[in-house]
Amino acid sequence: MSQIYNFSAGPAMLPKQVLQLMQEELLEYNDAKASVMEISHRGADFMALAQKSEQDLRDLMNITDNYKVLFLQGGASAQFSMIPINLLHGKTIANYAHTGHWSKKAITEAQRYCNVNICTDSSSNKYTDIANFENWNIDENAAYLHYTPNETIAGLEFDYMPEVNMPLVADMSSMILSREIDVSKYGVIYAGAQKNIGISGLTIVIVREDLMGNVVKNQPILFDYATQANNNSMYNTPSTYPWYVASLVFEWLKKKGGLTAIVKINEHKAKTLYDAIDMSGFYSNPVAKKYRSWMNIPFLLANEDLNSLFLEKAANNGLITLKGHRSVGGMRASIYNAMPQEGVDKLVAFMQDFEKENG
Ligand SMILES: *Cc1c(COP(=O)(O)O)cnc(C)c1O
Repeated sequence: MSQIYNFSAGPAMLPKQVLQLMQEELLEYNDAKASVMEISHRGADFMALAQKSEQDLRDLMNITDNYKVLFLQGGASAQFSMIPINLLHGKTIANYAHTGHWSKKAITEAQRYCNVNICTDSSSNKYTDIANFENWNIDENAAYLHYTPNETIAGLEFDYMPEVNMPLVADMSSMILSREIDVSKYGVIYAGAQKNIGISGLTIVIVREDLMGNVVKNQPILFDYATQANNNSMYNTPSTYPWYVASLVFEWLKKKGGLTAIVKINEHKAKTLYDAIDMSGFYSNPVAKKYRSWMNIPFLLANEDLNSLFLEKAANNGLITLKGHRSVGGMRASIYNAMPQEGVDKLVAFMQDFEKENG
């Protein structure tokens, strides 16, 4: 197979070395005499994998002992319910920042459990800008503040962290492990795995211990963080293969030098693509410069009628899944950790050629 660069928003590209290890280990995991897919999650081999993967993630993100790391199912979307269930703590209000499609979904779900105070709203600017924090309307009686550091669809990423006197909750699905963050500032961090951690079927939740154990009444027992934490994410059968893939990605990232190394690579990749867009008269990105995402980069062609030709020619050049989300149109290049600089360089070269021929 010739070299393909996959710009999918998720499930997304995996590091080639990880795919190769998955292939090598597919039939037999270590000395287990069986595939990692076929062994018990409570057996010695899988327990060792689970422990090591948690420790690797703790090392990568500097997660201290007062946080639990959970390996759950249900995607980030299940967290939209688990957050209010676990964090309302008897209160009736929660603050939500509305900065995109995914925050909107989180809000809609939270409204089933409480009154949602929308403390900032980017829908009027079509999710291309974020208000300064001074202008947010925070309800101090609320149980927590939820926000989405990177909005995957519009490509809108915070360049600051809201600071409040209540637990801060972040849906980091599309930016976790892309740059360094201070975990100690957060009450809960969660992320579906299929963007920057591995494959779908796994959700990582990092939750401060003192926030657990006070859930809304009569909710599913699996949706109680304490149930999951007290059972090392094995109250029921966890998603073992996605957990295994995550363990390989964590090892890959550690070998690359961890977050201090990947952040530089990611910053450079994003700059390469935004510079190419900004310097052309043919491509454009509508997001306010300081809130442009490093992970998801939408761009429009000056002539929309050329969209399908662009996609067809890009695919012929080994550049796939560039079609933008239907709500934004145009193109979107998702360039998570697994996308190497060469993939972005190749995309930029293609874009320049395409502009010359059609612009
Ligand atoms: C992809 C994504 C989701 C949805 O994740 P699922 O695992 O499909 O539930 C939620 N939030 C953000 C920011 C995302 O990028």
